[in-house]
Amino acid sequence: MGWAISKTKSVICVGKAQCIKRVKMAERCVFCRIVAGEIPADIVYQDEDLLAFRDIMPQAPTHVLIIPKTHITSVAELTERQANLVGRLIIVARNLAKKEGVAGKGYRLAINCGPEGGQVVPHLHLHLLGGRQMDAKLG
Ligand code: 5GP
Ligand code: ZN
Repeated sequence: MGWAISKTKSVICVGKAQCIKRVKMAERCVFCRIVAGEIPADIVYQDEDLLAFRDIMPQAPTHVLIIPKTHITSVAELTERQANLVGRLIIVARNLAKKEGVAGKGYRLAINCGPEGGQVVPHLHLHLLGGRQMDAKLG
């Protein structure tokens, strides 16, 4: 069971029955739809595996979401093999902070996980927030 990127760049499932359910979830996911180009987004970076775009309801002058192009529901679903992907999410966020001109004064990176963690969109994403003083209190 697993995932693959087809030649047309759509996410396809290379496994069996259990996978079909996952494909349907991924099809409905708003961030998967942004990856597929079905929903417009202000894209600021992309490579083969990652996409970064501006948050639709920014909570700071700079508010960018960095996501894996493949559907991963949350941190809770990550496997050890995806550790490198997560590391690259952070490196891309760091590079974007420089590009956005917020690196000098500092910025916040945040990942919400699950309902009590404040996660609303069930597709792993890293928030890059900058351009204003962040609250000292988290939560
Ligand atoms: P969460 O609360 O899940 O950590 O954050 C989800 C974020 O996604 C929110 O900040 C929300 O404004 C953003 N968001 C939700 N739907 C869309 C969308 O369709 N386009 C963009 N660009 N951002 C979205
Ligand atoms: Zn998704």
